[in-house]
Amino acid sequence: MMNSQAQDIISVPFIDLRFEEGFEERVQKRWQESLLSKSFIGGIAAKELENKILDFTKAKHFVPCANGTDAIQLALRSIGIEPKDNVLIPDFTFWATYEAVVNVGANPIMIDVNFTDFQMDFDLFIKAVEKYKPKAAVLVHLYGWCSERLQDFRDYCNKHEIYLVEDAAQAIGTYYENKSLFEKAFIATISFYPAKVLGAAGDAGGIFTSNEEIARLCRQLSNHGRSTHYGHEYVGWNSRMDELQAHFLSESLDHLESRINSRRKSEQKYVEFCEKNKDSLTVNMCTSPSNITNNGYLQVSLAKTSFSELSNKLLKRGIKTGNVYPNPISSQKGTLDKSLLITNNKIAEYLSKKIINLPLFPYMKDEEISYVCECLKEA
Ligand SMILES: *Cc1c(COP(=O)(O)O)cnc(C)c1O
Repeated sequence: MMNSQAQDIISVPFIDLRFEEGFEERVQKRWQESLLSKSFIGGIAAKELENKILDFTKAKHFVPCANGTDAIQLALRSIGIEPKDNVLIPDFTFWATYEAVVNVGANPIMIDVNFTDFQMDFDLFIKAVEKYKPKAAVLVHLYGWCSERLQDFRDYCNKHEIYLVEDAAQAIGTYYENKSLFEKAFIATISFYPAKVLGAAGDAGGIFTSNEEIARLCRQLSNHGRSTHYGHEYVGWNSRMDELQAHFLSESLDHLESRINSRRKSEQKYVEFCEKNKDSLTVNMCTSPSNITNNGYLQVSLAKTSFSELSNKLLKRGIKTGNVYPNPISSQKGTLDKSLLITNNKIAEYLSKKIINLPLFPYMKDEEISYVCECLKEA
């Protein structure tokens, strides 16, 4: 017989990929078609995905590629970033943003984030533009939302002829002032890493742009700089998306709205619980700025103690949490000496030790959320 205490304890994963009924079978059917037709690269699935994703995001052009890091590199190459160019990036992001800039030979300059939205700070950004005269900036839309001042970034870059690349790896389904982020972006990139909001069954990524010429260039660069099958106009590389990934993503897109709604609902439940129990909780929950509708990619809370203390307590109750950016970029071991900062980036440093990401993924059960909430009260 099971003892009653053990029965009480459930475990909640940080992230679990839960699919809709029949989803796997429909994917298998699509994959079977590829196997039979032996269409693995450049077939109908990639084209279908392109059309579907343009419809979902309201973007003008979409170029599929191999992963989200390549997508940023293709974007930087397509706008003509060359060795020695300065490129501004936030100091608080996933490492890939930094890698992409370094991999095209440019100098990354890290800008601190702010306390309002945890995204690159606009005033510091302007200071850095004046000091470093960058050719481009990569603005990262972190946590499934984006900067409250996205429009200011876009307007300023437009006026000062700085290319603005938006790293929207986490931001499909995010709305800025009631519009899809991708609708007005000059160039935005996405990752389909399985744990992202739209995940593949492996690695994949893509570039969105409003500019036809940029789209053509990205397409060529991602396919060995080809202009014809044996004609190479540029030195690119192979960053094509294969048909199996395109099929999986296309099938997933049919359920994306439902997955995002489910994420948002769970996040809302956390927030409501937090409001009711404000004083007895060990965290402050953070939400996206009011001019943004987030996609529920990550739950973001500030631990009243620290991430490590709280996460250990929750782990003892079977709850896995995340601190997905435990260091600012500028304090990673792999940061090159030449990387530049405009301030001492105190906020990125502070947030990296305080933020705790609670379990959040599509189709979480109510019991799972209430269990996490109860444990938060006791932690
Ligand atoms: C996931 C992610 C990437 C990299 O995507 P990959 O597909 O893993 O290469 C880049 N930037 C941000 C902000 C991300 O979250």
